[in-house]
Amino acid sequence: MKHLLSRWLAIVASALMALAAWYSGAAPGYALVLFVLLVGLVMVVDPPGANERGPTIVNPQPAMPADPLPSIRASIEALDIPVLVMGAGADLLAQNAAAERAFGDLGEGQHVSARWRSPGILDMIRETIETGTPNQIEHSERLPSERVYIVRVAPVETDGRPLFLLSFRDISELRRLDRMRSDFVANASHELRTPLASLRGFIETMQGPAKDDAKAKERFLAIMLDQANRMSRLVDDLLSLSRLELKAHLPPDQMVDLKPVLGHVRDSLAPLAADLGVEIRLDLPEEKIEVMGERDELVEVFENLIENACKYGQDGKVVDVVVRREPGVGTEVRVRDRGPGIPAEHVPRLTERFYRVNVEDSRSKKGTGLGLAIVKHILTRHRARLLVKSELGVGSEFTVRF
Ligand code: ADP
Repeated sequence: MKHLLSRWLAIVASALMALAAWYSGAAPGYALVLFVLLVGLVMVVDPPGANERGPTIVNPQPAMPADPLPSIRASIEALDIPVLVMGAGADLLAQNAAAERAFGDLGEGQHVSARWRSPGILDMIRETIETGTPNQIEHSERLPSERVYIVRVAPVETDGRPLFLLSFRDISELRRLDRMRSDFVANASHELRTPLASLRGFIETMQGPAKDDAKAKERFLAIMLDQANRMSRLVDDLLSLSRLELKAHLPPDQMVDLKPVLGHVRDSLAPLAADLGVEIRLDLPEEKIEVMGERDELVEVFENLIENACKYGQDGKVVDVVVRREPGVGTEVRVRDRGPGIPAEHVPRLTERFYRVNVEDSRSKKGTGLGLAIVKHILTRHRARLLVKSELGVGSEFTVRF
């Protein structure tokens, strides 16, 4: 600016000098030539710079940082866990779609306590706002459904405006699996401990009071063998389950004809059926019935279902195994007994590990409570389903649908 001023002063001075020359008697042409020469000289000595051609924009204020909220709002929208943005007063400024799905529309501008009253969450937020350090706690919600979250609050590094992110990581499923695992270990230990305690009891009796009683010893040994067999069945079933879990994500890739599989299962269960006075009737179509599967696992499925039908439906005397392939439905194998049936409230839980309608009844029939859990695991791997229909006093039907 100063530069521009001095050049204009030089031009005005040139004009004044030309006027003075004219005034002191020089010819007007001479005065004009003098003016042009002097201005030309000024231009040569001090040519105008490129930066002087337009008006110079000068901003006396430092630049204001842009509001970070819109870009944070766009970023949290890309996350699939509930995230909210709060201001320094713990007021809600934005929420992503996942938060809206989980907690509904929270209404921007509201204080966070309008939705979360838990002192744990509110204290944690207050502390983070005061100290600027992130915090997290575990928090449970009962409605609309039981959920467990890790709630975390952390400041966002922004230019100027203090913002805080409140995020919710849902760990309900992890908790459920943890509980299932520990229930399973507790159940398995309990199932093993019972026969083990009985074995120890008999050994002590045989070492002490029944030391010289040959008849009692013989009776006890038979019971001990029974208990040892029970433990071994349980360990076999547990191993079978854990093997299945290991390959749950690998679907079988061979074609298996169900006709020879079912024939084999009927033959292997023939001695048990004869002992129970039950007849196993197979109703198979003429043609091959092929499904994608693993033969040994399918044998295990039908052994479990047909053995259960013989054991629990013994009173009905017959077990029917019917195979049908229907367009639009797929291949179905139905195992039907005419036993006492299963009360409706038990049906949805039959495939849970160690779930039994009647524990004593199952134990007396050499059950482990794991048979249908194994069946379900195998069928899941085969992309097949187990459907259970049962009517009290009429019987039960277990259908495998491929
Ligand atoms: P278990 O080793 O006890 O037989 P399963 O998992 O095979 O264990 O079956 C779970 C429970 O389901 C059994 O204890 C029994 O109470 C019931 N159940 C299974 N099949 C039948 C059936 N065909 N009729 C009646 N109850 C059945």
